[in-house]
Amino acid sequence: MKAFRAAWVCPIDQPPIKDGVVSVAGGKILSVGMGASPDRIRDLGPVALLPGLVNAHTHLELSWMRGRVPPAPKFTDWVKVMFAVRGRPDGTMSSEQIGAIAGAIGEAKDAGTVAVGDISNSLMSAQPMREAGLRGVIFHELLGFNERDGAVLDATREMRASASGAGVRVSLAPHAPYSTSLELFRAIRKMVNDGECPIMSVHLGESPEEVELLENGTGPWRGMLEMIGAWREDWQAPACDPVSYLDRHGLIDANTLVVHGVQLSGAALARLAAIGATVVTCPRSNQWVGVGYPPIERFYESGVKVAVGTDSLASVQDLNLFSEIKTMRYLAPNVPASSIIESATLIGARALGLGNELGSLTPGKQAKMIAVRLPGRVDDVEEFLLSGIDPEQIEPVNP
Ligand SMILES: [Zn+2]
Repeated sequence: MKAFRAAWVCPIDQPPIKDGVVSVAGGKILSVGMGASPDRIRDLGPVALLPGLVNAHTHLELSWMRGRVPPAPKFTDWVKVMFAVRGRPDGTMSSEQIGAIAGAIGEAKDAGTVAVGDISNSLMSAQPMREAGLRGVIFHELLGFNERDGAVLDATREMRASASGAGVRVSLAPHAPYSTSLELFRAIRKMVNDGECPIMSVHLGESPEEVELLENGTGPWRGMLEMIGAWREDWQAPACDPVSYLDRHGLIDANTLVVHGVQLSGAALARLAAIGATVVTCPRSNQWVGVGYPPIERFYESGVKVAVGTDSLASVQDLNLFSEIKTMRYLAPNVPASSIIESATLIGARALGLGNELGSLTPGKQAKMIAVRLPGRVDDVEEFLLSGIDPEQIEPVNP
């Protein structure tokens, strides 16, 4: 057994403990508290000891695009440049592109992240995640506005099976309502329900253009779909908001990660809360791609579960989740600091099906902890953790 004393211990499932002690055995948390002093206690000094963070929305395979797609005033403008930079995907990646995945994983780990919810078309992030010991779920993203069935699911089954395993689970993600047909949505939902990983992720309510398409069948997204030859003449706008559209077809459940939600009304958020779904907010990316900032305070007021993601390096400058929660604090000064930190740890872990292993310093969970150096005496440690933390201030504590 080993034990660590820190100026502050932040277990997440209980309030911070001043001069707390965490004891660990066999890589798992044994006890958390003021602690009777065991023989081999290691004093970490002026640090906050907390569980590693969970980044619930990344696209690691897009890491090579860092700095190549500038911020845009409008979502469809950003998408057009992103498509142009990426070219037509043919399922292969260059060694430079694959190398960028490992680099991004290293940076995320240095910034205190221990698990991710990664969206992937290629599943190329699976191997580098395993090699780096980064836990998580890879959501195999499928799309096609004019897909008339779920044939693509069977065609790609083997690819998912070979990528899954050893700490990295593979599940499915229909991309978004403006890019994925209802037939494909339904087929994915059925396979997720029947399969071994019951978690699904979907981009929802990100841009005003998405809302306009679903309400009226008009706007820049229709133009985009026509331009790329994906529009279908038999498509009828559902004439409702994005949550109602998926909900009326039974496509959202308690194991669904609803990513972005920038445009969602109070009623839509209340419905997600009632279902038990998790909203994953990525405020820096939202600003970058021109959809505005998310209504963070409304998210929390609605009672919906809130997790945090950075999104990809095509729409954010780094994968430092501490920078993301600093932005959340800026946007939502009235939300308790403890709630925002819980979002970046325990809520994210639960959303990815890792709630029994990660996300809090709870006896029995994995001891994947980080120590954040404090600048001296800090009275409100949770507020400090929202002030912007650089990798240089973070040390992993892996006993
Ligand atoms: Zn995304």
